[in-house]
Amino acid sequence: MSGNPRGHVVVMKFGGTSVEDSAAILRTASIVRGRMRKGLCPVIVVSAMAKVTDTLLAAAAASGRNDREEALRLSDMLRTRHLTVARELVSGDRLTTLQINLHHDFDALDELLRGITAVGELTERTSDNVVSFGERLSSVMVAGAFAEHGLQSTHVDARTVILTDAHYGKAAPNESAIEAALSTCVVPLIESGSVPVLGGFIGSCNGITTTLGRGGSDYTAAIIGGGLHAGAIEIWTDVDGIMTTDPRICGDALRVKTISFEEAAELAYFGAKVLHPATILPAVQKNIPVWVLNSRNAENEGTKIVAMPPPCASPFKSIAAKKRLTIIDIVASRMLLAHGFLKKVFDIFDKHQCAIDMVSTSEVSISVTVDSRETLPAICEELSCIADVKYESSKALICLVGEDIRGQSGIAGKVFSAISHINIRMISQGASEINMSFMVNEEDVDEAIRSLHNTFFTSPDPAVFDVEVSTVASNG
Ligand code: ADP
Ligand code: ASP
Ligand code: MG
Repeated sequence: MSGNPRGHVVVMKFGGTSVEDSAAILRTASIVRGRMRKGLCPVIVVSAMAKVTDTLLAAAAASGRNDREEALRLSDMLRTRHLTVARELVSGDRLTTLQINLHHDFDALDELLRGITAVGELTERTSDNVVSFGERLSSVMVAGAFAEHGLQSTHVDARTVILTDAHYGKAAPNESAIEAALSTCVVPLIESGSVPVLGGFIGSCNGITTTLGRGGSDYTAAIIGGGLHAGAIEIWTDVDGIMTTDPRICGDALRVKTISFEEAAELAYFGAKVLHPATILPAVQKNIPVWVLNSRNAENEGTKIVAMPPPCASPFKSIAAKKRLTIIDIVASRMLLAHGFLKKVFDIFDKHQCAIDMVSTSEVSISVTVDSRETLPAICEELSCIADVKYESSKALICLVGEDIRGQSGIAGKVFSAISHINIRMISQGASEINMSFMVNEEDVDEAIRSLHNTFFTSPDPAVFDVEVSTVASNG
């Protein structure tokens, strides 16, 4: 906290499962109370309740294809769910006010869905508006529940704070405008001892609602943490922290106690859903530690993401996987990778705003992987003017991340002998030197990850990994 006047401010982000029902929201309130007892000033960022974003997207899609009945049925289901949770959490006048607010929002949502059906077209801008209701509703409800349970809290509409550009579906924050908005809308609340509660993921551009991309509530927390110069950012989720791999794929996954910003960013980018890829940046720039914690097991220490982690005896900290990728093989039939050919290829991807995950080249060809399917036909059509093009979908990228692979020899051999029974398509060692990645068929991902996990995490370094949990689990 030294020298930082806002070192006592902690931005706490609760994901969908941490606010999924009344029991989860009460757990959240008690975690926040615990932080206040330690003299900290929490600023709360909440996701939509679990699965609500998916349902809203389905409702928007139904409206877009003229299925008004289905769109309104989905909205009705969400209305019932929110009102039930509201009744379980608050009572009296507070409940009446909350019910009025929720009905007001759902009426607006229904009107919007009817409007989309009427015009028969779903634009990115309208889709953002529909999907924003998830966080708008959850944040109003959480603020109400906190107040009911003795926490002085104030709801802040995140759209007045997270000011962005107009890139609907994946808007970019305007840092200086956000800092100014934080000073007027959030700082006075903190100073008056109130707990501000904001919805994650949503923002606005000139008063029009935008979103930061799927999983974007983590990003909201980091933007707010960075803007406030907070002492810490806490990402509360449904697992004990960043694990050695997705625990849903490998039951033996261990908690990583400390990880570097660089490693965490790499993992997030390459598919570890536990953190949004862009989360780390605002925190790195201001050197704010980020914690990943479990709201169902609040006593657990979680994972601390820091600039300088301790050295680790194991080469890797974690294994991530990103599915639904496509490999595009571009063969320069006439020009044998003549001067300017690569530029032409990358310019085409750039023009279609399509990010490339991995690249490998040979004398006559270049292979790239992308995760965007919408722009693929147009890209391939343009590429076919300069080369022969083939593409294969349903591929996955597996990425092993660890700063301690630097300078260790024989690691690649160990990786590939662990998965010698699996067909590998493309291999790359990132320029950052802290990841090794390769492509496999989607259906081989789980098996490949389990084999790699067995190879690299059988005798984990206890200074970096929580080895006690696995002992307890295997004993029990
Ligand atoms: P939230 O709703 O809290 O944002 P997410 O579902 O976005 O939670 O992220 C948490 C999930 O990320 C976990 O349930 C887990 O299945 C998945 N996950 C993937 N990779 C990892 C990893 N390396 N460590 C921890 N969790 C991971
Ligand atoms: N609710 C949004 C989503 O599901 C944002 C988030 O939860 O981070 O993608
Ligand atoms: Mg998430």
